[in-house]
Amino acid sequence: MIPLVKTGLPNPDILMPALEKVLYSGYIAQGTVVDEFENKFSDYVENKFSVSVNSGTAALHIALILAGVKKGDEVISTPLTAEPTNTAISQTGAKIVWADIDLKTGNICPKDVEKKITSKTKAIMVVDYAGIPVDIDAFQTIERKYNTPVIQDAAHALGAKFAGQKLGNHFRFTTFSFQAIKHMTTIDGGMVCFKNEDDYEKAKLIRWFGLDKTKTRQKNDITIQGYKYHMNNVNAQIGIVQLNRIHELVDPYIENGKFYDQELKGVKGVELIEYYPKSEPSYWLYTLKVENRDMFISKLAEKGIMASELHKRNDSHSIFSNSKTSLPSLDIFSKKMVHIPCGWWVTKEERQKIVNVIKNGW
Ligand SMILES: *Cc1c(COP(=O)(O)O)cnc(C)c1O
Repeated sequence: MIPLVKTGLPNPDILMPALEKVLYSGYIAQGTVVDEFENKFSDYVENKFSVSVNSGTAALHIALILAGVKKGDEVISTPLTAEPTNTAISQTGAKIVWADIDLKTGNICPKDVEKKITSKTKAIMVVDYAGIPVDIDAFQTIERKYNTPVIQDAAHALGAKFAGQKLGNHFRFTTFSFQAIKHMTTIDGGMVCFKNEDDYEKAKLIRWFGLDKTKTRQKNDITIQGYKYHMNNVNAQIGIVQLNRIHELVDPYIENGKFYDQELKGVKGVELIEYYPKSEPSYWLYTLKVENRDMFISKLAEKGIMASELHKRNDSHSIFSNSKTSLPSLDIFSKKMVHIPCGWWVTKEERQKIVNVIKNGW
């Protein structure tokens, strides 16, 4: 079966000596290897205000704290995402206010977000679902107009671009995840990128109990609630080796995604996702809208291809029941959406086979 997601680790000949070195170096906690990983990542996204953490969820939580989100506040968010986007919000005690999606893209709809802004809105959470950048132009306007920070959860969108610039630079906060099946894994890990130096400096305190690593314990005075969210040298070492070959990890998703864009255009029973102007997706998943989804999935399974909707609309979880609202575009989209394999493990022959099977109907 051609899988939908897969863990991509470097060649053991390269990874294992690097790992062995750090494991027995006597320093496996957060040290200079973490700094080196952060610097390399900063170069990749071209944002020097990047702070590494031990998960994408921790990155989201730090962004929410710095946005000033507290119990009783509201955060506008999308239900079409992986659950951690929204459990990170509920963790702060804030109420999630769902915005509907844009039927053409599956991403959170800026017009609906604007309708739902109130005096209690402390942040807007946007997700580049499946690696398709959100409507960055529209959300930058909203961030300015309402003076309300946008948190861009780019866990699916490492390497995606807007106006020629990689995600990680467009809003006050952008977060990434290096969990097992993302574009780039460090086993677990995350990154939060900032526009402001002040947020960047505070994030470094919050990720380590509120303590300042540059001072001795005796000289430290904790003034801000912190957490154990820092990355360690071992995960960072894996991250460094991964970043050395980042094009091997990200580029095939993009090449395969563009191939499907071309080959599946106009195919009967298939509706393609649209992209916003100036945006270049990194296609963590390749999403289609199809009629008779169950039949589509079983036809592909019969031919050895995994297809699935993968995510469950988050508004259907009991924990979020007090946010329930009508979301007509999501109702339509979530009945039709399905993902097909698109990552580095899909060969040229396999992607052609996938297209052929879809063209033959289901
Ligand atoms: C994976 C993921 C996260 C969480 O990342 P972790 O590193 O697993 O904590 C958050 N948001 C989205 C959209 C994700 O896919």
